[in-house]
Amino acid sequence: MRLVLIGPPGAGKGTIAEKVAANHGLAHLSTGDMLRDAIGRGTPLGAKAKEYVDTGRLVPQEVLGEVVAEKVRQLDGFVLDGYPRSLEQAEFLAALEGVDVDAVIYVAVGEEAAVGRLRGRRVCAKCGAVTHTETAETCGNCGSGDLVARTDDRPDTLKKRYGVYMRETEPVIEYYRGRGVLREVDGTGSREEVLARVEAAIGPIAACGDDKR
Ligand code: AMP
Repeated sequence: MRLVLIGPPGAGKGTIAEKVAANHGLAHLSTGDMLRDAIGRGTPLGAKAKEYVDTGRLVPQEVLGEVVAEKVRQLDGFVLDGYPRSLEQAEFLAALEGVDVDAVIYVAVGEEAAVGRLRGRRVCAKCGAVTHTETAETCGNCGSGDLVARTDDRPDTLKKRYGVYMRETEPVIEYYRGRGVLREVDGTGSREEVLARVEAAIGPIAACGDDKR
């Protein structure tokens, strides 16, 4: 099964993608995580991407496209989280041979709720687990790392990222709706509620994949 998760910053895509991937034995491919990792390790990709990621802008397709293509071509099943984020990227993905996407899950959340979630988002400096100031003061995963805000979650960068989403990524939702692969899910409420809705939306596709085996 090949899934794409799409939604505004703060929709909870990373957490949902991770759980869905684990539930169905799929690879979780997050372009944001991939880029942060490359920046952290100081790779050539990281060096090219850093300025864009730090300022909340999209990393150019010529920098990112082939890296994503190489990864998805190697995988039988995946949950793609954070790509495509523009029509150019959607068309690029559609043109990759043997990489037909089964469904695109759109996690719909309004700006206020999305930005509210991101304001309190913290990442464990030691293990990378994501938490929220409302629910945790220490890392629930390793229990010992400092909880820090992502540089691109600062209020001004956050606003810019939301603007980029509205301008560049929203048209991608209509692109997939027009192709009949979009499944829209209400992204408000608890993590468990949203995950249950996502699982319900992909249920028929997962069952269809099981039949094929
Ligand atoms: P995320 O963790 O998905 O919020 O992504 C963090 C940042 O990584 C974004 O604000 C962009 O700068 C960059 N990024 C992630 N995915 C893409 C993409 N598909 N195209 C361009 N830039 C991306």
